Amino acid sequence: MCQFHALLGPRVRLCRFVINIRQIRQKMAKSKFEYVKGFELGDKCLPGCWIVVRLDGKCFHKFADTHEFVKPNDERALKLMNHAASVVMKEFRDICLAFGQSDEYSFVWKKDTNMYNRRSSKLVSTVNSLFTSAFVFYWRQYFEAVQLKYPPAFDARAVLYPTNETLRDYLSWRQADLHINNLYNTAFWALVLKKGLTTTQAELRLRGTVAADKNELLFSEFGVNYNDEPAVFRKGTALLRKAAGDGYGPRQVVVPFHADLIGDSFWARHSEVLALGAPGPCDAGDLARLAET
Ligand SMILES: [Mg+2]
Repeated sequence: MCQFHALLGPRVRLCRFVINIRQIRQKMAKSKFEYVKGFELGDKCLPGCWIVVRLDGKCFHKFADTHEFVKPNDERALKLMNHAASVVMKEFRDICLAFGQSDEYSFVWKKDTNMYNRRSSKLVSTVNSLFTSAFVFYWRQYFEAVQLKYPPAFDARAVLYPTNETLRDYLSWRQADLHINNLYNTAFWALVLKKGLTTTQAELRLRGTVAADKNELLFSEFGVNYNDEPAVFRKGTALLRKAAGDGYGPRQVVVPFHADLIGDSFWARHSEVLALGAPGPCDAGDLARLAET
């Protein structure tokens, strides 16, 4: 046998060696343990649907109290949320819009995205971890001397919206939710901070009131016209990808808008979002808001 092997030419011996290595590799790749891959569930998002990944702060009432957030709205916290969301949008070009309010953010993936082969768990987990790490990473930029006392967490989910109409209704729902909560909180904290009511007394005072009652209370007792409150508090923040020209040619920027998403005008002005078009141009106001972030 050895003699026979010695008779083979070096080229043949090399070929045999390569074949042996391949066989070993194939055996390693298909080990007896590989069957466990079959336990993984497919979670590919349906084609042609908008994919919304929504994050929500875990126990953020406690987080806000521990870090002494300003009531009813802490601008530092909102700006930090917007910054973290911008980081996510810059990383994933297939996110065409994000909407944030309070301790939550929704990221809208283009309905034709093929990112991560549309696997829900990959999209959700990567968006969530990047957002959360950015929130921690940029904390000091907004809270300066306020030390982060423990690591914050966000839950996350992906929801599919099959039509432009259902996507718009989803975003309208989140903005309407913001309106209801922010009007309540503005009235509640005015009663507590400006009038000295306890939180229980303020809660009782507002129990059973409708929006018009709270608007009236704010105006008659505190001289506050709710509609004059900063738009970022009343409307939340929509982040859109836009094209900005500078000395080096066009570049993409992520611009914050504090606009009404329920009516048609936002969608008419930014028609590229639903049409899956290229980012639209910025105007001077957009650039000014961008500079404030
Ligand atoms: Mg929340």
